[in-house]
Amino acid sequence: MAKHAFLSASASHRWLECPPSAKLCSEQEDRASPYAQQGTDCHELCAYLVEKELGKDVTDPTENLTYFDQEMQDCAEGYCSFVMEQIEEAKKHCQDPQVLIEQRLDFSRWVENGFGTGDCVIVADDVLQIIDYKHGLGVLVSAEMNPQMMCYALGALELFDGIYDINSIQMTIFQPRRENVSTCNITKDELLSWADEILKPTAELAYEGKGEFKAGEHCQFCKVKATCRKRAEYNLELAQYDFEMPPTLEETEVTAILPKIDSLISWVTDIKEYALQQALSGTHYDGFKVVEGRANRKYTDDDAVAFAAKDAGFDPYEKKLLGITAMTALMGKKKFEEVLGKYITKPQGKPTLVPESDKRPAINTAYEDFSEN
Ligand code: SF4
Repeated sequence: MAKHAFLSASASHRWLECPPSAKLCSEQEDRASPYAQQGTDCHELCAYLVEKELGKDVTDPTENLTYFDQEMQDCAEGYCSFVMEQIEEAKKHCQDPQVLIEQRLDFSRWVENGFGTGDCVIVADDVLQIIDYKHGLGVLVSAEMNPQMMCYALGALELFDGIYDINSIQMTIFQPRRENVSTCNITKDELLSWADEILKPTAELAYEGKGEFKAGEHCQFCKVKATCRKRAEYNLELAQYDFEMPPTLEETEVTAILPKIDSLISWVTDIKEYALQQALSGTHYDGFKVVEGRANRKYTDDDAVAFAAKDAGFDPYEKKLLGITAMTALMGKKKFEEVLGKYITKPQGKPTLVPESDKRPAINTAYEDFSEN
C-alpha cells in the first residue's frame, strides 16, 4: 500500500482549518472505498493517455484496472486533450516547456514529511502550471487558493525555481464529471508568503497534534467525523436555537437555519451509520435494536428461471429500449446526435433551494412570475 504523508496535501484543506484533526485521523484505520479506487484507476488512465500523446513508450493499463467504463475513458480523454491544449498554449511563449506527469512533489521545507503527486506540471520559462484531475462527483472543487494545489506548486518550485526564473503560478482543477474547470493564478511571492505565514506554522501545530479543533464543511472527509465532539457541538448549536419564543418561526429565523441544514443532515447521517456499525459489533444503545430492513423477493438463478418459464410455454423476456447512456455508447456520440438528437428533450428539474454561491442560474419563482404580470 502506498505510504501516505502524515500531513498530506490532499487533506491540507482539513488540517489547515482544524490542525489537531491530522493526528487524530492518522491514528484511525484506513478504510478502502470504491470511489477512491475509481479515482486511482482513472488517474492511471489519464497519465497513460497524456504520456502516449507526448510520444512516450507506455503500456495501456486498461485491462489491469479494477474499474473501467466508457465514462472513465471519456473523462481521461477529455483531460488528455485539455493538457495538450495547455502545452500548446505554453509553447506560444516558451519554445520548449517541460512537462512532468505524475511527478512526486516534496514540500517538506514547510510541512514535515510533506509530499504529494502532481498529475501534470508544466514549466514554461517564468510560468509554472499545475493541473490536477478530480474524478469525484460529490464535491465541486475550486482551484481558488486551493491549499492542495498550493502545496504541489511549492513542491514544483523546489524542483524548478533554481533552473527557471518562475514568477507566476497557474493552478487548474479539471473535474469533468461536474463539467468543472477551475483555474487560479497567483504570483510566486503570494505563494511563498502563504507558505511561510500560514502553511508552515499551522503544519507545525498539526504535526504536534496541537491547535484548535474547528468544525465546518471540511469535516466531511475527516475520519473521526461521526464521533468528534467539536463537530457535535457545532451542529447542536442549531438545537439551541430558541424555538420556544415565537409560536411560529419568522422568515429571518428560517434564513438563519437554512445554511446549517446540509451540515446537520450530513452529521446525523454519519452518527446513524456509525451507531449501526457499532450496534452490529455488539454495542447496545438504550431504546434501540437492530432489525432486518425491507427486502424484495428475487430469483436465485436467472438462467434456471428463464429455462423453466420457457418450458412452461411462457416468454420470460421483455424487450426494452436502451437508455440514453447505453444508446450513446452503442452508436457513438456523433451518430447518436445525428440519428436521435431530435428526439431528446430535457425536462425541467425539480426546484431546489441552494445557497447563492451555487453556479446554476436562479429560476423564476411563482412570486416573480406573478409580480411581472
Ligand atoms: S470532525 Fe471536524 S472538527 Fe472534528 S476533528 Fe475532524 S475536522 Fe476537526
